[in-house]
Amino acid sequence: MCQIVYHPDYKKYNLGYTHPFNPIRVEMTLDLLNELGYSVKPLTPVSITPELLYGIHDPSYIEVVEKVSSGEILKEAENYGLGNPDNPIVKGMAEGARNQAGGTLFAAGLLLENKAKKVLQLGGGFHHAHRNSAAGFCLYNDIALAIKEMTKAGWHVVYLDLDVHHGDGVQEIFYSDDKVMTISLHESGEYLFPGTGWMHELGCGPGRSLKVNLPLEPFTEGDSYLDVLNGVAAPALAWFKPDAMVVQAGADAHFSDPLADLMLTTQDFERIYRRVLELAEQFCNGRALFTLGGGYSLTAVPRIWVILYLILSGYKVPDKIPQDFRKRWNERISQDIPEYFHDPEQAFKPVPRKEKIVKLNHEMIQRMMDTVAVYWF
Ligand SMILES: [Zn+2]
Repeated sequence: MCQIVYHPDYKKYNLGYTHPFNPIRVEMTLDLLNELGYSVKPLTPVSITPELLYGIHDPSYIEVVEKVSSGEILKEAENYGLGNPDNPIVKGMAEGARNQAGGTLFAAGLLLENKAKKVLQLGGGFHHAHRNSAAGFCLYNDIALAIKEMTKAGWHVVYLDLDVHHGDGVQEIFYSDDKVMTISLHESGEYLFPGTGWMHELGCGPGRSLKVNLPLEPFTEGDSYLDVLNGVAAPALAWFKPDAMVVQAGADAHFSDPLADLMLTTQDFERIYRRVLELAEQFCNGRALFTLGGGYSLTAVPRIWVILYLILSGYKVPDKIPQDFRKRWNERISQDIPEYFHDPEQAFKPVPRKEKIVKLNHEMIQRMMDTVAVYWF
C-alpha cells in the first residue's frame, strides 16, 4: 500500500507562468488520475518554519530567501543564486518551498513511524538547492531535510536520483556523511546543467565511495539506462544495506523533454520504476519515499507520474488516456497529448551512433565498478 502526500498549498511555489517549473504539471497529474477514476485521498502535511531548515541551509541564506520572498529588495540576493531566469524572485516563493519541504519531511515521518512502507510525495524533489544558494529552480532542499530526519533516527539511507540532471545539492550536503549513499543517473555534465556529477566525485572522509555518479551519454535509451541502474545500483545497495530508499523521480529523461537529451519512453519509465521498487524490496526493507522533481514536457510528465502512482499503488497501467482529459488539456496547453500511456514503438527516429552510446555507457559501468571495488568488496 502506498501513501500519498500532497497539499494544495504546494502550488504557492510558482515561479511564473512561463517558467518551466510550473505547478500545472502536478495539476495535470491529479486531473488525469481523477479522470481515470482514482480518487486520490492524500495525507495533507503542514508547512515548516524557516528554523527547521537550519540543519540543511546556512541561516544567512534562509534569511535572505525569506526576506526577498516577502517583498524586500536586497542587493546581496544575487550572491545567493536569486534573481536570475532560473531562480527569479517571486513573492511567496519561500512559503511555497517550505510547504513542499514540509511534505517531504512528513513523508519521511510516515516511514520512520512505520505508518507506511511506500510514500509518494506529489511535490518536492528540489535536488539542486545548495547549503548556501538557490539553483536550478530549487530554493530549499526538501530531500536533504527528509534524509537528515532519517539519519538522526540512526537509519542508513540511499538516495536514488532519476532526474536527468545531476543531484548536486543533495550530494553536496551529504558529501562526507557515512550514513547516506547518493546514486545519481544523469545526462553527462559535459552537456547539461549543472555540469557536475562526474565519476570521480566519490565523497570524502567517512563518506568516501558513498557518492555514486553515473553520467550518461546524450541520447541514451531505456535499455542502456536500465543496464546502468542494474550494473551499479544493485551491487551498491547489496553492499550498503540501507534502511530506506529516497527516490527523486524527475521525469525529464523523457525523449520529448525540452531541457535535456535522453531518450526514455513512458514504457521505459514504467520498467525503471518497477525495477527501483524491486531494489527497495530486496535491499531497503521495502521502504521507499518518492518525490517528484524535474520534467518539462507537458504531454509526457502527467503520463509518467500517473504511471508511477499506479505502479506504487499496485494498479495496472491502462492503455488509453481518457478523451475528456485530452480535450480539456490540449486546449489549455495548446499541445496534443498522445492517445496512449505508452509511447508508440517508433516514437522517435533511430538514434544515430546508438551502438557507440551503448558501448560508452557500458564502459562507464565497468569503470565505476572498478573504482569502487576497493571500497565495497
Ligand atoms: Zn531535472
